[in-house]
Amino acid sequence: MIWNDHYETMERDRLKQVQSRSLRELVERVYKKVPFYRRKMDEQGVKPSDINQIIDIVKLPFTTKQEMRDVYPFKLLAVDLSDIVEIHTSSGTTGKPVVDAYTLRDIDTWSEVMARTLSMGDVTRQDIVQNAYGYGLFTGGLGVHYGARRIGANVIPISGGNTKRQLMIMQDFRSNVLTCTPSYSLYLAEAALEEGIDFSKLPLRVGFFGAEPWSEGMRKEIEAKLHLKALDIFGLTEIIGPGVAQECMCQDGLHIFEDHFYPEIIDPETERLLPEGEKGELVLTTLTKEGTPVLRYRTRDITYLNYKTCRCGRTSVRMNRILGRTDDMLIIRGVNVFPSQIEEVLLQVEGVEPHYQLLIDRKGQLDSIEIQVEMIEKLFSDEIKMLEKTEKKIENALYSSLGVHSKVKLVEPKSIPRSEGKARRVIDKRQV
Ligand code: ADP
Ligand code: ZN
Repeated sequence: MIWNDHYETMERDRLKQVQSRSLRELVERVYKKVPFYRRKMDEQGVKPSDINQIIDIVKLPFTTKQEMRDVYPFKLLAVDLSDIVEIHTSSGTTGKPVVDAYTLRDIDTWSEVMARTLSMGDVTRQDIVQNAYGYGLFTGGLGVHYGARRIGANVIPISGGNTKRQLMIMQDFRSNVLTCTPSYSLYLAEAALEEGIDFSKLPLRVGFFGAEPWSEGMRKEIEAKLHLKALDIFGLTEIIGPGVAQECMCQDGLHIFEDHFYPEIIDPETERLLPEGEKGELVLTTLTKEGTPVLRYRTRDITYLNYKTCRCGRTSVRMNRILGRTDDMLIIRGVNVFPSQIEEVLLQVEGVEPHYQLLIDRKGQLDSIEIQVEMIEKLFSDEIKMLEKTEKKIENALYSSLGVHSKVKLVEPKSIPRSEGKARRVIDKRQV
């Protein structure tokens, strides 16, 4: 179901005109109101009058995560503080968080893009949305909340965690839509099994899973265990939170809400723009945001774009699922890999559970990786010889598809810590 026919199926030439106008207005606004951007544009020798068409965006400077931290808390504001009605931040585990400050119109935009998002999974006012994304400064909870409200669905603001209560509510309220991280959905499935709850008997129909990387193999696990259709939802605090891009029922890429967020793909080394279909770093510009607008934000997320019209009828560009982040790429003995690539290989091995952790260490000059992964109970009780054989099998699979030498250790079911939000997949012992 398409929430906003006008924008989501707009002819691409017409869309470019809309984007061009928004970009002109945005650049004028930030040049006038935000000294940070004016200085950067002056340094680059670009004036607002140089920006006419959307393609002129390449003349503008990039914005990095570090810069967004340096302007903490309010130096990116393009309106008076009194016009701000709500503030969210990134988790800020590694320093000052990034601030996203919303005007009333920004909240309205957020509700709109989140209504489009949920509509991609056919959510209507008949549905009951169990929203297990965290409420609070994190954008996940309230983002989904505003979208569900805009549609008129019944939203259950349960937030993350408290797994037993999640399961009780799910049964009693007959939730048919679930929103949480992919890792938490598996935790719910596992806890349900322990409680003797059969997911195939619950009305759950569709889930919106995101906020962390996950693979196609993980999708299959989730769909089989939770008996629902698992859709990929993408967003980031710097841009608006969830509601930047969303997979439709075709499960063939995530539609970007391009009338609000303009995507580019660049080579992260040279910063050169890459053509359609080439893998690189996603760069996003908030075309319509009022509170804390962002020019050409370097997301560090790796993906590629596809401009073909989708089978669902939407004309908006689609991004592939995120392949990894430039900052969590591992370099193991000279081979570059993303944790999600390892996940993809692991989940193809029979008997392997979607619970794993990567332990990175350094021995002498060489980086090494140990992969701890859980097995299904039945296999784990096999004799040692069998386990060793499976470990070797996985090591070989990883070597032949990724070229990575690794040590695989099968661990007992339920021994890897579970997460209620974003899973922690990588433990880097080199840093401790
Ligand atoms: P933080 O984690 O810094 O608190 P965010 O929640 O805004 O802040 O995190 C945004 C990041 O989460 C994105 O840049 C991306 O790396 C990751 N992310 C979000 N959604 C997805 C998704 N569907 N698939 C893969 N990665 C995702
Ligand atoms: Zn589609």
